[in-house]
Amino acid sequence: MKELFERLYKGTKAEFYEHTKKVLGESGKMIIVTANPEAFMLADKDSKYKNILYKDITCVVPDGIGLVKAAQSLNYPVNERITGVDLCVFLLECADNQGKSIFLYGAKPEIAEAFKENIEKNYPNAKIAGAYHGYNQNEEKLKEEIAATKPDIVLVALGMPRQEFFINECVDLVEKGIFVGVGGSFDVLSGAKKRAPSIFIKLNLEWLYRIAKEPKRLKRFYDNNVKFIFKYKK
Ligand code: UDP
Repeated sequence: MKELFERLYKGTKAEFYEHTKKVLGESGKMIIVTANPEAFMLADKDSKYKNILYKDITCVVPDGIGLVKAAQSLNYPVNERITGVDLCVFLLECADNQGKSIFLYGAKPEIAEAFKENIEKNYPNAKIAGAYHGYNQNEEKLKEEIAATKPDIVLVALGMPRQEFFINECVDLVEKGIFVGVGGSFDVLSGAKKRAPSIFIKLNLEWLYRIAKEPKRLKRFYDNNVKFIFKYKK
């Protein structure tokens, strides 16, 4: 698993945003994986998932604090978290400023709708190329739509690894686009779920807040984060 850390973005959040903005401005193509220990555990077990992390056009950024701390303990110069939620907001701002188009896929129907309305209201220059909730969609049709509309930004909120697999099937159909798997970000940005208070984020305890709010996350946390602690140095 140690080799996966080589793939982690080593710059600051500001540098990564600058890079992303440049790729967007140049109509380039990029996959962003907002990784946490779960992503590395998945990649360790599943070569199909791992191959996505190793693609030339993929940037793997450290979303989870567990990954930042593990990387630092292995002496990798990983600076700070670059989260899916913050990245969504940044990309929406870019889309608004540059008049770029966005394709949204994922989350529950009412949340996807609320998120779309929120974008229309707060980012009026961003063009919505398509917006679909994440339940029982015909993904072949969605891929065709992405190929036809050629969005500048594709945000996929299905949870990992499904979001990365979907993205991987889309990228070869288009010449350009920033494709990001953003987990539960639509839930937060639609206003349906609250993000942890800033003191939790500052103290690197956002994970604790999420477990306290949704205790069913505990098993997932144990399987991915606790086991990760014993595994990542191997
Ligand atoms: N989701 C979806 N379709 C599914 C299963 C999940 O759209 O079949 C959505 C779910 O509604 C949520 C997101 O995927 O918005 C996953 O969120 P989660 O909080 O599990 O992701 P995390 O941020 O923990 O990676």
